[in-house]
Amino acid sequence: MNKDLQAIVRVLPFVRSVAARRASAALRVRALLRNLAGTGRRLARLRRDVSELLRIDPLFVARDAAGFRRGEDHARLHDQLAQHMQMLEAGGGRMRLRRFCLCCNETTPMRMDLEASWEDVEGNRSPNWRERLVCGHCGMNSRQRLMAKLVQQAARERTGASIYLMEQVTPIFDWVRRLPGADVQGSEYLGYAYRGGDRVAGLRHEDVMALSHGDASFDVIVSNDVLEHIPDPAAAFRECFRVLRPGGVVLATFPFHADRPATVVRARLAHDAVEHLHPPHYHGNPVSADGSLVFQDFGWDLLDVMRQAGFADAACEVYMNDAYGHLGAGLLVFRLCK
Ligand SMILES: [Zn+2]
Repeated sequence: MNKDLQAIVRVLPFVRSVAARRASAALRVRALLRNLAGTGRRLARLRRDVSELLRIDPLFVARDAAGFRRGEDHARLHDQLAQHMQMLEAGGGRMRLRRFCLCCNETTPMRMDLEASWEDVEGNRSPNWRERLVCGHCGMNSRQRLMAKLVQQAARERTGASIYLMEQVTPIFDWVRRLPGADVQGSEYLGYAYRGGDRVAGLRHEDVMALSHGDASFDVIVSNDVLEHIPDPAAAFRECFRVLRPGGVVLATFPFHADRPATVVRARLAHDAVEHLHPPHYHGNPVSADGSLVFQDFGWDLLDVMRQAGFADAACEVYMNDAYGHLGAGLLVFRLCK
């Protein structure tokens, strides 16, 4: 054996042991990384579980005007509103609060200002608590954050829930679509030229007065500020009842005039033309630059219309929760049970 070979044979065990140590270190690093990834996944899962455990419940539930007034007094809704107004005035009409967003699952900055505010009959500026308090992370306002959470709660009570939203281009739809284990469908009203179920640029067209879905298709139906734009809301409620499964629920928001016993019809369809009974009033529409005409200013008789459509219960839930960033005069959500 020459000298070089002898030298190689001598260092060989050392080289082997270094290589072995390196391999085992690499294995340990890989295991550590795997573990870290697992911990990250476990943390994400834990966070999701915690978010599902957090609930929001109404301050009170009313089924008529008298019940609403009793609830308002008992919950001291006006006192709370006065406090929130003072906070806003102290900030010169704008404030940035840190509150827990139930959709982001963490404390986030929420923006409140006088955007979308209006002047009341006495000339006072009324801040739009419902459409503001925008979360700095998810970008959803108070009404949207509340509805998204309520849909999560309703879905959680129904395993593998099938959910239909009368919207498809909104932050609520995007948020609900990501709920684990839920089957989520949405639609937009794209115009009278289309038939229910038609797809245009990825959007499904539906007329909520004549849905193309089969009977008992959904466990949860969600309607956000749509029904005031429907010429015949009774037909829309009958359709919701038809496509809802027994035990299902409709969650709906719309501008509601809690001080009015009766609905005011602002416009109606007569011979395929719109007849205005009051000056026309439009709301913004995410799929039309023209906006959406308001056909009705709803009052308490709407709950009778809901019950006549077949619903076993129709109730107005009133939410306000400082910790979750729902301030102001109370957010109204209507819950219809089949
Ligand atoms: Zn958020």
